[in-house]
Amino acid sequence: MSRPDVPHCETCDVVIVGGGASGLSLAHHLTATGSRTVTVVEAPDGPRRAPERTWCYWEQGTGDFDEAVCAAWPRLRVHGTGGDTRIVDPAPLSYRMIRSSVFERLAHARLARSAGGRLLRATAGSVRGVPGGAEVRCTTADGRTLTLRARYVFDSRPPPTLPPARTRLTQHFRGWFVRTDTPRFDPAVADLMDFRVRQPRHGLAFGYVLPLAPDRALVEYTEFSRTPLTTTAYEAALARYCGDTLELGSYQVESAEQGAIPMTDARFPRRVGPAVFRIGTAGGATRPATGYTFAAVQRQSRAVAAALDGGHARVPPPHGRRALAMDAVLLRALDTGRINGPDFFTDLFRRIPPHRLLRFLDGATSPWEEWGIGLRTPVGPMLRTAVELPFLPRRPHPAPRTGESPR
Ligand SMILES: Cc1cc2nc3c(=O)[nH]c(=O)nc-3n(C[C@H](O)[C@H](O)[C@H](O)COP(=O)(O)OP(=O)(O)OC[C@H]3O[C@@H](n4cnc5c(N)ncnc54)[C@H](O)[C@@H]3O)c2cc1C
Repeated sequence: MSRPDVPHCETCDVVIVGGGASGLSLAHHLTATGSRTVTVVEAPDGPRRAPERTWCYWEQGTGDFDEAVCAAWPRLRVHGTGGDTRIVDPAPLSYRMIRSSVFERLAHARLARSAGGRLLRATAGSVRGVPGGAEVRCTTADGRTLTLRARYVFDSRPPPTLPPARTRLTQHFRGWFVRTDTPRFDPAVADLMDFRVRQPRHGLAFGYVLPLAPDRALVEYTEFSRTPLTTTAYEAALARYCGDTLELGSYQVESAEQGAIPMTDARFPRRVGPAVFRIGTAGGATRPATGYTFAAVQRQSRAVAAALDGGHARVPPPHGRRALAMDAVLLRALDTGRINGPDFFTDLFRRIPPHRLLRFLDGATSPWEEWGIGLRTPVGPMLRTAVELPFLPRRPHPAPRTGESPR
């Protein structure tokens, strides 16, 4: 048994720093064959540990984490500022929700059952290259220090600062899990964007409603803008939305979640040393124009595992170049106010078949389809923005806080 004051060193094939969406997804794929040893380092409960959150994504057929899906919606709805409503059926895709705590339990159980996987509760500190691999310095909850050596390290911790960017917006939000006194929700329809809320002077705002039962839903108030609000301001916006717009009548708030996701055209490095890689949001998996990350993380984890199985260590880009270029134009057009955000998104859902739009957001459309999508946006302001972008400098920006304790 080790004495608490003696630094300890352990060796494995792969260390994954951070056991959140990307870390645990990658661990799942890397341990599938049982041919390598994988240690996931996840912070003990405390300030470093990410709060519980809800991840939504769309998928066709069955997925790797179906057992963790707690709700799914076959239809999506968008409300314009004037109350015009569009309900779309994204079949063969469906919109799904996973709670991070359920995902974590499932992934931890799989890791425990796997031949070479293990979870280490410790706070990771420095990660540095060493001959033949890399090492991670960790501190366990009881204060012991531990060095993990591995052939490869995949780091998913949120970066303290974001790489320089031309545009940096934030998708920031607070959500309430509400229970109403009478049935108020249609569990078959998720409200993806409800622009009937008061619009901010800069950026855009929308409501987001994910029904879990006729009398239960996650109701969120979201903004795409430069700076997150105070909790008091989110609460006021949510109360207005639930009362005046959704007319929920009497309801109880059972719990809440809050977060901020970077929306930026920064270039996130994925390889930061010969044996050290960044994955997840830290490695650019967040789609700049939407904040969606979970689906890209799944694609990336499968690709990393397949590459390692084939003897290559690499993290492929989570989003294609064309998608990133189009997102950069959209972010800048929103930030400068050249386009009206609510009209832009409502029109997309009105004018583009929903399955094509969702495939576009997954980076799965052809150049021809993307050209068609581009033509259905406000062509003048978007073109003007595209022409000016290459001449704009990339500047450093602070990273937004990615989550906050709810209640
Ligand atoms: C509230 C919220 C809701 C979101 N909803 C959606 C959604 O609906 N759909 C979607 O696609 N995306 C969503 N996102 C964006 C994105 O999917 C999530 O942020 C996702 O968790 C990103 O995965 P990740 O692995 O990059 O980071 P995380 O899941 O945050 O994982 C990082 C992990 O590192 C751990 N960690 C941090 N520091 C240390 C340390 N020093 N040592 C050890 N461990 C450490 C943390 O505890 C955490 O578990 C949401 C984000 C937030 C904040």
